[in-house]
Amino acid sequence: EAPLLEVKGLKTGFTIDGEIYHAVDGVSFSVKPSQIVGIVGESGCGKSVMSMSVMKLLPMGIGKITDGEVIFEGKNIAGYSESEMNGLRGKEMSMIFQEPMTALNPVFTIGFQLQEVLFNHQKISKQKARAVSVELLKQVGISRPDSIVDEYPHQLSGGMRQRVMIAIAIACQPKLLIADEPTTALDVTVQAQIMELIKDIQTKNNMAVILITHDLGVVAEMCDEVIVMYAGKIVEKTDVDTLFYNPKHPYTKLLMESIPKLDEEVDTLGSIEGIVPSLKNMPKVGCRFADRCPVAMPECKQITPVLAEVEDGHDVSCLLYKSSQPVEGVI
Ligand code: SF4
Ligand code: MG
Repeated sequence: EAPLLEVKGLKTGFTIDGEIYHAVDGVSFSVKPSQIVGIVGESGCGKSVMSMSVMKLLPMGIGKITDGEVIFEGKNIAGYSESEMNGLRGKEMSMIFQEPMTALNPVFTIGFQLQEVLFNHQKISKQKARAVSVELLKQVGISRPDSIVDEYPHQLSGGMRQRVMIAIAIACQPKLLIADEPTTALDVTVQAQIMELIKDIQTKNNMAVILITHDLGVVAEMCDEVIVMYAGKIVEKTDVDTLFYNPKHPYTKLLMESIPKLDEEVDTLGSIEGIVPSLKNMPKVGCRFADRCPVAMPECKQITPVLAEVEDGHDVSCLLYKSSQPVEGVI
């Protein structure tokens, strides 16, 4: 099956004090139609920048794609203009974020904001748009949709606001939904409901989803494929079962160990010692995880591992595996 999205050698740079630093540094992966791909890693690993790059929502004048391709339905959109992207965003690909309050406009009603997307991409009468909006609110599990449609974002709970965001995102039945930590700001019980809703819509609409999360429990339940990112690079990539039963990268293994047990109140992923190197302090050569890696070897700071297949459908970037050791001379 041809991929819906193919990201090839993507690099996204940020200009800080006149210098370019790459928050996403040579990332390649693909998403098939109706597949759910999880992207995991601590904050600061480049997950969000990666998704903003695909949507081309990078802060203007600061962040930009400096290399690579983003192929969506066979077309490289990496160089698309803002108006070309406007034709895609909200229609073919949509995104939902962690904090729905900041994504919703406080001065407009829910209905207005839903209809805005519809008007942008469809020829539709005002009356029909309102009816569709109510129907969309119903689809995302909002009770009393015909009164909620006239309410303002602040009148809704966090969970309901995220449902509204999902309604807006799916209004035009996009082929790809990117969900960036969509439940982080919500109560635990609401989190589960929202995930269920995303899964539900994904199945009904045959939509592909890129799910960015730091919650491996969610990954286990939702995803087909998983990408583990560290410091702007992919360190491991495989199907969900292989990742959980046969993780290979030391970072992935630590992530697995840091999954909180049911009776423990720990911050997810909070328990790996050390921090992700900042953009300005990124090592130029060697493995970027070397400072925190419990099994680091002396060469890990001198040789840069490459992401390569260790077994069928399982890519890893770690010098413990022969496949990741660069061929001499091409380091
Ligand atoms: Fe650890 Fe070395 Fe593998 Fe990096 S390359 S993850 S430092 S063993
Ligand atoms: Mg993020």
